[in-house]
Amino acid sequence: PNYQSVALVVGVTGIVGNSMAEILPLADTPGGPWKVYGVARRPRPSWNEDHPINYISCDVSDSDDVEAKLSPLTDITNIFYVTWTNRSTEKENCEANGKMLRNVLSVVIPNCPNLKHICLLTGRKHYVGPFERLWNTQAHDPPLTEDLPRLDCPNFYYTLEDILFEEVGKKAGLTWSVHRPGIIFGFSPYSMMNLVGTLSVYAAICKHEGSVLWFPGCKAAWDGYSDCSDADLIAEHQIWAAVEPYAKNEAFNVSNGDVFKWKHFWKALAEQFEVECGGYEEGKGVKLQELMKDKGPIWDEIVRKNGLLPNKLEDIGNWWFADLMLQSAVPLDTMNKSKEHGFLGFRNSKNSFLSWIDKVKAYKIVP
Ligand code: NDP
Repeated sequence: PNYQSVALVVGVTGIVGNSMAEILPLADTPGGPWKVYGVARRPRPSWNEDHPINYISCDVSDSDDVEAKLSPLTDITNIFYVTWTNRSTEKENCEANGKMLRNVLSVVIPNCPNLKHICLLTGRKHYVGPFERLWNTQAHDPPLTEDLPRLDCPNFYYTLEDILFEEVGKKAGLTWSVHRPGIIFGFSPYSMMNLVGTLSVYAAICKHEGSVLWFPGCKAAWDGYSDCSDADLIAEHQIWAAVEPYAKNEAFNVSNGDVFKWKHFWKALAEQFEVECGGYEEGKGVKLQELMKDKGPIWDEIVRKNGLLPNKLEDIGNWWFADLMLQSAVPLDTMNKSKEHGFLGFRNSKNSFLSWIDKVKAYKIVP
């Protein structure tokens, strides 16, 4: 086929990467038809195989591997950078994540004469601080807007932006966009932060054990307004920025455009897995990291009994992430800037929640 655009998706099996891999090759995707290269370290998983992309196993933290695997690609027009690595301090996150992005850009930019635009995925921690100091710095007062100044503390999102700006400046006409989602609702058993998948695994374990589905969070998260960012919507937002001239060289929030309450979604989760809905209880202090720490063998049994894909509990249950995300109210953002620039996409978060639960069941990750 005569490709109009050629994408490099870095992190193609991640929670956003898998949506990019699904949506980019579709016949009606803006900017298309798209040829797609997708990068991740592990061998290609079965649940990613339906997507017509060129899968490349490459460790982007290793500059030799990047040189070997990515320098032969000379036709890339667009980079979608949707990966990250997690270290124990934010200072180390800045170094490790900065190195990964630099490794990719320093090979692809000089080798690809037709490279036009780079989309960088970061997130709402841009406004409220990195994990190690979430909330205890000078976190901005929501609703969060893109023009708020950076916080005065290390944040690997700032490092990534700075490297992006520096590298883009080396090639005339090359443009960028930064995309800042909140909690992402999507599908990927390889994701380090998949809330819907994690809660589905938790619910499946409760069902198996006949226990109550307690809410592992605080009252403010249970009762207050939350929002989220659908992974397919993020993919659409990045593709929009890649093709829309008015979206160049800008950072944008990306969220579904509605609000919800966990106390309502919790009931839906309990129904999907046919478990007794426990909810939030004062003083109970349920933490998934605590509750799930010895459940590995039980999970293996659930996998066997239901013929599921043989995932290990520690890979698909991101307990630390769920505990942290439900430990406080979500600071809301606004989509005004995206709308003003012409992106009118949205999702109904209830439908989004239910559809990703359906998908995690359909792909036999959970029963
Ligand atoms: P995921 O953990 O879902 O996916 C990471 C992807 O990158 C996987 O495909 C992984 O596959 C691949 N990968 C990891 N390390 C390497 C490496 N060294 N070389 C090549 N590929 C690699 O990532 P997210 O989509 O969650 O994260 C992307 C950005 O989105 C991050 O900045 C994150 O902070 C941000 N974000 C995420 C949110 C969420 O809810 N998940 C919320 C808001 C922001 P493999 O391991 O096989 O290499």
